[in-house]
Amino acid sequence: MVEKRQLLYEGKAKKIYQTDNPDYLWVEYKDDATAFDGKKKGTIADKGYYNNQISAILFDWLKQKGIDNHFVKLLGDREQLVKALEIIPVEVIARNIAAGSLAKRLGMEEGTELPKPVLEFCYKSDELGDPMINEYHIDALELATIDQMNQIKKQAWEINKLLVDYFKEKGILLVDFKLEFGVHRGQVLLGDEISPDTCRFWDAETKEKLDKDRFRRDMGRVEDAYREILRRVKGEVD
Ligand code: UDP
Repeated sequence: MVEKRQLLYEGKAKKIYQTDNPDYLWVEYKDDATAFDGKKKGTIADKGYYNNQISAILFDWLKQKGIDNHFVKLLGDREQLVKALEIIPVEVIARNIAAGSLAKRLGMEEGTELPKPVLEFCYKSDELGDPMINEYHIDALELATIDQMNQIKKQAWEINKLLVDYFKEKGILLVDFKLEFGVHRGQVLLGDEISPDTCRFWDAETKEKLDKDRFRRDMGRVEDAYREILRRVKGEVD
């Protein structure tokens, strides 16, 4: 039995607690939601529950597919135990269909399928608004080593391939998503979460948005979207 100790960090969507074991952290998912670099704030009813469950299922599945990661086990409705990572301050974004900032930046219509998937990197910095950077910046600023980046890219491509197929079977298009990696006992491991907060999910038939864009764009029925994603990853498809 792991014991919960003092609060280590409170982020926008999660609280992280130490445990009696320095190798493990206790994560509590919150209902708070933010967008546009924290300029838009709100809550999504039971988001903490949905994201905790969805992320646990996806990380567990990825582990079975050979992608080792920080997830250890669920501790409750909104809580999970993870391996303590030293987070690499680089957000890795994988994209399959043009949307959000890519659609805007490149003048592409949202929904245009990319001929090939794309990876992007952003510097994880709230003050700077997570600016996009390339591997030369990452090397020069010593955010990660070249060897770590090679491992990160290899895993990110593999995760994208696995998740695109996984969600296709559940009638969902995986438009794009964000990953974070960290180092645990010298090993580069996938961390953070994979949820409707960090992915764009569209219903494959209706193209209905089933993710945080409903909150960002005030589309309504936000909680329903999160509930629907949990239902689909649990295999509760009609
Ligand atoms: N994303 C994220 N956290 C961020 C930025 C982006 O989880 O700080 C996710 C976002 O949900 C989407 C993908 O990364 O699935 C690509 O986001 P984009 O660059 O289009 O930015 P956005 O339009 O969300 O500002």
